[in-house]
Amino acid sequence: MSNSNATGRCLCGRIRYRVTGKTIWSGYCHCESCRRFSGAAVTSWLGVAEDDLEFDGEKPSIYEIDGVRRGFCPHCGSSLTYAADRFPHYVQLHVGTLDEPDRVRPEDHVHCEEKVAWLEISDDLPRHEGSAADDNNDWMKS
Ligand SMILES: [Zn+2]
Ligand SMILES: [Zn+2]
Repeated sequence: MSNSNATGRCLCGRIRYRVTGKTIWSGYCHCESCRRFSGAAVTSWLGVAEDDLEFDGEKPSIYEIDGVRRGFCPHCGSSLTYAADRFPHYVQLHVGTLDEPDRVRPEDHVHCEEKVAWLEISDDLPRHEGSAADDNNDWMKS
């Protein structure tokens, strides 16, 4: 899947980005920390190589804890990015911040163990109890 030149921005538009390379992973995350950070019951992500993400103008502010760095706009509060020590040179973007979110199709569900009980998944995509990386060590090499 190619998302070259996909663009996105935060709610207020002070932070804008462009993806210049291919998608490494796209999917839903049901983990509690994504839920709290975004305020949404489930998050959807587009993962790319760090070098394939460019910001125009301001860069996101970072909240870092336990080797995880979550980027957000300090002006409007939009959740934007995820990066972690365990996934070097890799960054994820909230699909909801893309200008054309329809370009990204989720491939699977991760951290289903933490899914809210009332959310019913009706698609046939693979569901991982933890992260896709826990189930498949090759997931980042596509
Ligand atoms: Zn903003
Ligand atoms: Zn998550």
